[in-house]
Amino acid sequence: MKHPNAPHDRNWHRHAACRDKPNLDWHSDEPVIRQRCLAICRNCTVRAPCGDTAISLRDPWGIWGGQSPDERDRLAGDEHLRILPPHGNNSRYVKHSCRCDACRAGHTSYEHARRQSASQQELQEPRTPLLQGNPLD
Ligand code: SF4
Ligand SMILES: [Zn+2]
Repeated sequence: MKHPNAPHDRNWHRHAACRDKPNLDWHSDEPVIRQRCLAICRNCTVRAPCGDTAISLRDPWGIWGGQSPDERDRLAGDEHLRILPPHGNNSRYVKHSCRCDACRAGHTSYEHARRQSASQQELQEPRTPLLQGNPLD
């Protein structure tokens, strides 16, 4: 039988220690959750092929092979992973589903500014009635 750590064992995921942890968020930026994930990776027998796969796929999300996206980005060398918007940015919250405190705050202030500008616009340009006059006249 092929050793599960063999780099080209395409079935390595069958031996993944995270397989029975479906409730853990492997994309979380919360330090406590990240530490839990990393502890599972430390004892995983397919850490090497898992990390290699993430780098070869240029996957910018979550923990793979006990490595964060930043660590993989460094290992990827010149061919960087996709650049993510910084934390605290509304697009990191909306498009990339980050729910860290900074992204929540960034999203809240974006929404606040958007609503304020919409209501100011409404004050300046009152809505025109859909029907001008009485259609039965
Ligand atoms: S190294 Fe971590 S992410 Fe990769 S298969 Fe093992 S437990 Fe899952
Ligand atoms: Zn964030």
